[in-house]
Amino acid sequence: MATIIDGVKVAAEVRGRAAEEVRELAAHGVTPCLAVVLVGDDPASASYVRMKERDCAEVGIESRDHRLSATTSQQELDDLIDALNADPAVHGILVQMPLPEHLDPESVIERIDPAKDVDGFHPESLGHLVRGLPGFRACTPAGVMEMLRAYDIDPSGMRAVVIGRSTIVGKPMALLLLEANATVTVCHSRTKDLEAVCREADLVVAAIGRPKMVDASYIKPGAVVIDVGINRTDEGMVGDVDFAAVEPIASAITPVPGGVGPMTRAMLMANTVAAARSAAPREQG
Ligand code: NAD
Repeated sequence: MATIIDGVKVAAEVRGRAAEEVRELAAHGVTPCLAVVLVGDDPASASYVRMKERDCAEVGIESRDHRLSATTSQQELDDLIDALNADPAVHGILVQMPLPEHLDPESVIERIDPAKDVDGFHPESLGHLVRGLPGFRACTPAGVMEMLRAYDIDPSGMRAVVIGRSTIVGKPMALLLLEANATVTVCHSRTKDLEAVCREADLVVAAIGRPKMVDASYIKPGAVVIDVGINRTDEGMVGDVDFAAVEPIASAITPVPGGVGPMTRAMLMANTVAAARSAAPREQG
C-alpha cells in the first residue's frame, strides 16, 4: 500500500505560510497584488481563473481581474501588459493560457517584466533555473518539489524519469530534480521502450496528457509516482497514471484530483508573495 501524497493538505500548508508572509508585509504597508488576465471565454480557463482568485482572497493577496474579449488585438493585450509592468502596486502578472489563436503566447510571455513573472514562464526565469540562480520557478514542477519535501522524499541519488518535455512542466521538472541531485532521464513521444526506461526509475513524474497511460508495467515496485496529468474523460477527471493499478506497487503516489493540481495554484500564491517581498524595498524608496 502506497502513501497517498495529499496535495490538498500540502497546498493548504503552502497557502498558510504565504498568508503569514502577507501579514508580515502588511506591517510594512505592502499588500501583494496579482493581476490576472483572461482573454476570451473558454470555460475551463474561466474556472481556473476563479479558483486562483479565490486562493488570493484566502491568502490575503489582492487580485485584479482583467477580462478581455476574444477579439482583443495583440496591441491591446501588449498595452495592458505594459501598463501592469509599469504599475508599482502590481507584483505578479498572470496571463491565463491558452490564448485565442490570433494572439502570440510567446511574445506575451516575453513582454511580462521578469520581476513580475509569477508563472515562471519568462525566458529569464527559465535561464535562472538552468543556471541554478534564484528566480521564479514554474508553479507545477515547483509544486511537485514542495510535495516531495513535505513527505520527506529526497530525490538525491534517485533515478528519476520525467515523461513529457513541455516548457511549462517536463523541462523545468527535470531541471529541478537535477538541482535536487537526482539522476534524471526525460522521456517523450519518441522515446523507445518507454516502459523499460520507466521501470528503472525510483521516481516517475508523468506529465503527458494521456488518461491512465502509465500502468503497472511502467513502475518498479517501491517507486514514487507523481501524476501531473489532468484529463477530462467520461468517468470524470483522471491523471496520466492508472492509479488503481499502480498504487499497490508504488511506495508513494499522488492522486488525481487532489494531487499536483492544488499544488500548482498554491505555488502561484507563494510566487506572488515572493514577488511582493522582493519589490518591497523598492516601494519603500
Ligand atoms: P504538452 O502536451 O505540452 O506535453 C506533453 C508531453 O508528453 C510532450 O512532451 C510529449 O512528448 C509527451 N508525450 C505525449 N504522448 C506521449 C507518449 N505516448 N509517450 C511518451 N510521451 C508522450 O502537455 P503539458 O502542458 O506538459 O501537460 C501535460 C499534462 O499535465 C496534461 O494532462 C496537462 O493537463 C497536465 N497539467 C497539469 C497541471 C497541474 O496543475 N496538475 C499543470 C500543467 C499541465
